[in-house]
Amino acid sequence: MKNHYDAVILGGGIGGLSAAALLSHGGMKILLLERNEFLGGRCSSYEKQGFVIDSFIHMFGRCEKGPYGEVMKRTKSEGEIKFWHPTRENPFVLFKDGRKFLSPMTAGLTREEIERIYRDAFGATDADIASLRKMNDTIEQMKYADTFELDDTPMSAFLKRFPMNRELVAYINQQVICLAVANLKEASAGELIRMLAFCHNEDNVGYPMGGCRAIPEGLARIARKHGAEIRSGARVEKIEIAKNRVTGVTLKDGSTFSAPLFISNIGVKETVLNFIDPSAVDSSYRDHVENLSCGKLAGVGLMAIHLALDKPFIPDSVAFSFPKDPNISSLASVLMEFVFQDQIPPTTDPMNLSLLPVASNMDPALAPKGKQLVHLPGMAPLESTHWKDWVNYHVDYLETLYPGLKKHILWYDFGSTSMINHHSGRLQPDIIGLAQIIGQVGKNRPPLKSPYENLYFVGSDNGSDNIGTELAAESALRLADLILKKH
Ligand SMILES: Cc1cc2nc3c(=O)[nH]c(=O)nc-3n(C[C@H](O)[C@H](O)[C@H](O)COP(=O)(O)OP(=O)(O)OC[C@H]3O[C@@H](n4cnc5c(N)ncnc54)[C@H](O)[C@@H]3O)c2cc1C
Repeated sequence: MKNHYDAVILGGGIGGLSAAALLSHGGMKILLLERNEFLGGRCSSYEKQGFVIDSFIHMFGRCEKGPYGEVMKRTKSEGEIKFWHPTRENPFVLFKDGRKFLSPMTAGLTREEIERIYRDAFGATDADIASLRKMNDTIEQMKYADTFELDDTPMSAFLKRFPMNRELVAYINQQVICLAVANLKEASAGELIRMLAFCHNEDNVGYPMGGCRAIPEGLARIARKHGAEIRSGARVEKIEIAKNRVTGVTLKDGSTFSAPLFISNIGVKETVLNFIDPSAVDSSYRDHVENLSCGKLAGVGLMAIHLALDKPFIPDSVAFSFPKDPNISSLASVLMEFVFQDQIPPTTDPMNLSLLPVASNMDPALAPKGKQLVHLPGMAPLESTHWKDWVNYHVDYLETLYPGLKKHILWYDFGSTSMINHHSGRLQPDIIGLAQIIGQVGKNRPPLKSPYENLYFVGSDNGSDNIGTELAAESALRLADLILKKH
């Protein structure tokens, strides 16, 4: 065993890399072991024919003003990761009933402008607008400490306090699903309010220049600058425990590493259930871990289609579209009839596109000169023998929003839900991690410290108040506080 590290981090997702950056900056000698040949886990990109393609489809809620900004500030690396933000000149757009509007998420819009969009796109009345205003005031002005009182309140119950027309409610639902990947009955109102308050008050949604991989690469540069050793292709197979302490980790190639501290970024459930000998896991802790949940929506299949176009055809940088049926009954029927049973997709009424990042309109370097890169998400079975039909189903829908687009497709790539496991190594292909649902947020969020003396967790499973990758980075900030104080 090699013994000269202060801490070994298992996994090079956003959580592990943020921890490596912060702890190595704090003077610790860090070794990070990542099983894939690339860094970033679920937040990564690859290259194909001059295009830089995100493995999955991401937008980022807080960027420089949130956990990424804080990691860069604390490590004196401001500007190491740069973000694009929507502006009036290059806004987000919203498709509703075939019409295109400015999206209320575009930065810098006044409340009056946002309310005009709700009136025009969703038929909001004065009463709806008054209710919406009251809801936004409540979210934006609630004291942080008071939000925790709503941790056990379902988001659906919180929303009922602000009666609005069906379409507005459905639009808010869609946003909540995008933020937390949890349905409104499971999602915790307290946690959602904290997440939404940051987004509303900071108004800083964005996308990394260089694509998703720019974030793990930037974090790795910071860590390496401060002496961290980062090894890819290093798959951990076993975490050895003796007398309630981790004594070392063994890799697939048989090599072993020891250190006074171990930090796992490979998921709470995965770490405990897959890597530690069952005889070293207390049965009540194992039961607790087994019951942690990624939420009901974690099992729903998605696909990420990446379209290489022969010219910049779509003028918008990010488009959202809104389902025709605000009760999403047609979405449910698509799920029941087609997605879950792996039938070929329906030929009518495709409508489930929620977010369309046109990556090369945000950063032109992501496509060769004169070409365009578009990321198109859609529902799909977990596994299918009809992938081409599913791609066509979603592309046909995009064609209705941007007629003529299909003629310009040079080629496409796609990732299915099962690809998530390849990137994360998790037990199931979940999107965010342990869900921000009632019973798993605030004081009930899985803690950073495991019951083993020198084993900590980092990653979205343990983060709070943020969305996806920023959840993972947030957990690293608190972990660094905890560890550096002792170190
Ligand atoms: C389709 C999709 C869309 C998403 N959209 C967004 C979005 O718009 N905005 C957003 O912020 N977030 C989004 N997310 C969520 C976000 O990507 C994750 O929450 C976040 O990246 C999780 O980071 P992490 O560090 O916790 O874990 P992971 O990214 O899962 O990283 C874990 C790392 O551990 C490594 N590992 C696993 N097992 C081993 C082992 N045995 N040995 C060594 N290494 C190992 C993995 O290879 C991986 O690199 C999305 C995710 C998906 C899949």
